Amino acid sequence: MRHVAVIGSGPAGYYSAEALQKHYGADVSIDMIDRMPVPYGLIRFGVAPDHQSIKAVSKRYEKVALSDNVRFVGNVTVGQDVSIAELQELYDAVILATGAPNDRPLEIPGSNLPGVIGSAAFVGWYNGHPDFAELAPPLDAGAAVVIGNGNVALDCARILSKTRHEFEGSDIVEHALQALDLSAIRTVTILGRRGPHQIAMTPKELGELGHLEVSAPVVEGADFPPLEADEALDPGHRKSITILREFAATEPDAAKPKRMVFDFFAKPLRIEGQGRAERVIVERTTLDETGAARGTGETYDVPASLVITAIGYSSPRMDGVPYDDRGGKFRNDDGRIADRLFAVGWARRGPTGTIGTNRPDGYEVAELVAAQMPPGTTGTLPGAEGLKRLLNERGVMPTDYDDWRKIEETEVGRARPGSPREKFVRPEDWLRALGR
Ligand code: NAP
Repeated sequence: MRHVAVIGSGPAGYYSAEALQKHYGADVSIDMIDRMPVPYGLIRFGVAPDHQSIKAVSKRYEKVALSDNVRFVGNVTVGQDVSIAELQELYDAVILATGAPNDRPLEIPGSNLPGVIGSAAFVGWYNGHPDFAELAPPLDAGAAVVIGNGNVALDCARILSKTRHEFEGSDIVEHALQALDLSAIRTVTILGRRGPHQIAMTPKELGELGHLEVSAPVVEGADFPPLEADEALDPGHRKSITILREFAATEPDAAKPKRMVFDFFAKPLRIEGQGRAERVIVERTTLDETGAARGTGETYDVPASLVITAIGYSSPRMDGVPYDDRGGKFRNDDGRIADRLFAVGWARRGPTGTIGTNRPDGYEVAELVAAQMPPGTTGTLPGAEGLKRLLNERGVMPTDYDDWRKIEETEVGRARPGSPREKFVRPEDWLRALGR
């Protein structure tokens, strides 16, 4: 028997567990340790609530979670309740699957003004992440800006543009739904520092914007290179550009009162306002020979009382684990950090790729683990029993999978599609629901 601790119960964590089961069969015992009392990380707190088909992947993780040799250990913060060094004394292998939940900061003047928030915070707010319960994004004025040209920027812009009716079937938290329903925002401007060919947005997510109930996309045809230039793009990316070209060729529907404006070649210089964000000062750019954005000196204002930065994420640091500052991830060699210590998913690669990209990652890290301790060999470390003892001594009360199921059945539990959660859930509420 071998004991493996996986830190983080999101996609990368569960794909790793699934792959370890394939290597070791019943000869492995896997603890999925998570700071939250409930599992599935990004699926629960990151994926947009109106993308239920993506969230459905958690059914696959549930199959793994319900197997006899996989244990969910929630409500345990590694680095606080137990250290990596201690886990290494208890488990044969430790896999960091902590994702990249921190916003990369936008380092321009005014970025700390009230009204400027990171996408992790905004996404966490509408997904019921307890850390962002008090966020209260300002939705009281007519204009918002989203900075970044990736799928997260699209998620944020779309959520700001939908009606209550369009959230039917989603699992958005009730209080976000109410706030969005009362929102005065009519224009959401998406700032991209480069051009349409340089976007990191995918066709399905872009296509949705053409079908919003009350918001119409606005794209400037002059921003595009000649049509022939699209031929050099890979097919998926070309599809995205084709959708943008269609938006540019279509007069925005006058019957729709809201606008989602794509402002390309637009680099934010600073954010200004009296005590809160009121406008973003933007510099027009062109692309230099390397494809980077170069300022032209021409500047203009974009009004915004809410500014969401969606410019990428980073993994949180962990005591004693080498960190790659530039990449915002753990320093690792194809998943190996040190002897018996590994990283997987965004903690390994940085925050790029879809949920499915984490699957091969999980399988690769399982190969590394298996190479270090071949299936069929046994170890002497105590694994779960040792962790239980340690947490007990420290008065830490973990939640297990059954606890999570009980939490789900309570009023503060997870909503099912079509029935938004009643109120913001905090770990205290969850634990109270368990009678603790
Ligand atoms: P991303 O795809 O890396 O996009 C980040 C964007 O921020 C880029 O457009 C980048 O522009 C821009 N940016 C970076 N620094 C900037 C700065 N200082 N000023 C202005 N703009 C700046 O990251 P993401 O949107 O956070 O998404 C993370 C990953 O999750 C992606 O792989 C994404 O596809 C995935 N995701 C998928 C879905 C889905 O499938 N539905 C939903 C959400 C997220 P440059 O290119 O110029 O650097």
